[in-house]
Amino acid sequence: MSAPSTESNGYERHPELWFADGTIILRAENTQYRVYRGILERYSPNLKAALENAPERKPVAVCPVFDLNDSVLDSTPFLLALFSPEFLPSKITQWNHLCQVRGCLRLAHKYQVNYFRRKTLSLLTLEYPLTLEARDEIDLFAGWRSEDHGVHKLYMLALAREVGALWLLPTILHDIYLILTELGFGELDQLSDFGHFSPTTIAADDAKAIVTNMGDHFHGAVQILSFLGSPAHIKGCTTPDCCPLLRFQNIGYAMTAIEIMRDRPLDVWSKTDWKRLNLCQTCLKTLKKNHQSARQDFWNKLPGRYGLPGWKELKEMAAAAGVDAK
Ligand SMILES: [Zn+2]
Repeated sequence: MSAPSTESNGYERHPELWFADGTIILRAENTQYRVYRGILERYSPNLKAALENAPERKPVAVCPVFDLNDSVLDSTPFLLALFSPEFLPSKITQWNHLCQVRGCLRLAHKYQVNYFRRKTLSLLTLEYPLTLEARDEIDLFAGWRSEDHGVHKLYMLALAREVGALWLLPTILHDIYLILTELGFGELDQLSDFGHFSPTTIAADDAKAIVTNMGDHFHGAVQILSFLGSPAHIKGCTTPDCCPLLRFQNIGYAMTAIEIMRDRPLDVWSKTDWKRLNLCQTCLKTLKKNHQSARQDFWNKLPGRYGLPGWKELKEMAAAAGVDAK
């Protein structure tokens, strides 16, 4: 990418969005883009109307000028998606993808560019899925997800509300406590400078729900780990002298796990933790089933804890938005 060049009027040309034969200049903050009016009008009825009713401005490079009332951080990915077919990723695998998807979705929603609204919502639904099975397939501890200490989730929370994508909220909200524990709850209403996202605010109801549900998370973590102690005896156990003792020996570890991971009860006992339990196959199978059942129970109740509709209704909302939600 070449460096942006500054015009005599103080605006910077965006190096990738300055087409020599472009027909309109769009401006966002101090950046200007020379793009094609016909393409904008074809995909966005809102922009078409806005362009038709825009006040006359002094032309730049013989093109009419239109001021977007949007940030550069949102405008650039939105316009890149419109004018560079391969710009959006097929899956979010880098922290930067979230910045691109967020900006594109905000403006696709605002300007009713339905194709990109559907596409970006589908990408976010892969990242914040509607089923526990789909969530369990994600490597939640991949490095890029903690690159900004997870602060992006606060922006995703505000984004989901802004564009009415309620089905994204439970999974975002589940993971959000850890960030707030580090960040402090006082930061909730002043999300401006974190992580190269344009400013946003968290809805007061969400902030309240996050705080009031902290106890439920702790209780959920305890419930999910209760498989270690109960039932005391498992029918069909082939080594009854060893299995209960092994489970008992791990209760201390479980208590530490609750202390560390109470912010994310669904992850309080990881796949690798099963290696700690050298139990007979019958016990192992039963405990895994009980553990997953407790997780599923917590998952099923997750939307309701935040005053959201149940998963079934959330899935219908996603489908109505054109998102293929498994
Ligand atoms: Zn056993």
